[in-house]
Amino acid sequence: MKSAAIVTGASGGIGREVARRLAADGWSILLNYNSHEESAERIEHELAAAGYRATKYRADVSDRNAVKRMFSAAEDMLGRVELVVNNAGISHVGLFQDVDDELWNCIMNVNVNGVRNLILSALPSMLERKKGNIINISSIWGSRAASCEAAYSCSKAAIEGLTRSLAAELAPSGIRVNCVAPGCIATDMTLKLGNETISLLREETPMGRLGTPKDVANAVAFLASDAASFMTGQVITLDGGFTI
Ligand code: NAP
Repeated sequence: MKSAAIVTGASGGIGREVARRLAADGWSILLNYNSHEESAERIEHELAAAGYRATKYRADVSDRNAVKRMFSAAEDMLGRVELVVNNAGISHVGLFQDVDDELWNCIMNVNVNGVRNLILSALPSMLERKKGNIINISSIWGSRAASCEAAYSCSKAAIEGLTRSLAAELAPSGIRVNCVAPGCIATDMTLKLGNETISLLREETPMGRLGTPKDVANAVAFLASDAASFMTGQVITLDGGFTI
């Protein structure tokens, strides 16, 4: 049995699949969600029925104190947390000049500060044990131009910069930090773009399909495993060839 993992945004398409895969690999999982309790409850029940240890927990990742409480609750309920998967995120499509301060700050607070908040909560015990694994979910739009998604793109670029810098800072302390950058994955976040855009994205993907949450979960499971024990500061792109 492995120790505990926190997956943020486990009520959503990618997070749910990451939780399923990590549970099957032996991790006890804290399933973080924010607004979709029913969805978190469904995956909690599914994993419990399969004999895995998983518990849902509501916390807005942009709220530092709520995240601190979530981390303590995870250690109390599931034992020492050795893995955090920063998956929670929000996107917005619109012209740069139409993104007002409130929306810009909201995207940064969830996508960037949310990642910072959980890492800050996890570090004291990871540093004490000289063991830890941090996996961040960015996006291909973190390193490629994303017209009409400047705020999202900027937030994902920040996550990749944070991944590399923290990896260098934490490697001597036995903590690995890596990132997965998915292309177009079939979840609510992509489906809300509409059929026409989705068809275009599919056509522009050399493999001719959208990715699945399982594609992302497989990469996360690899980074979480000992098979990746010499790997840190990396961004794994999963996009069916979209950016090559
Ligand atoms: P999704 O189905 O919309 O799920 C988003 C998840 O983030 C939900 O579980 C949501 O929780 C959670 N979340 C949002 N705001 C939160 C907050 N303030 N606090 C805690 N949780 C919050 O989207 P997805 O496709 O699975 O996306 C997961 C991650 O992959 C995101 O970081 C996204 O940017 C990234 N990504 C997705 C794609 C794609 O094509 N789908 C591509 C590249 C990267 P509630 O619903 O409970 O509020």
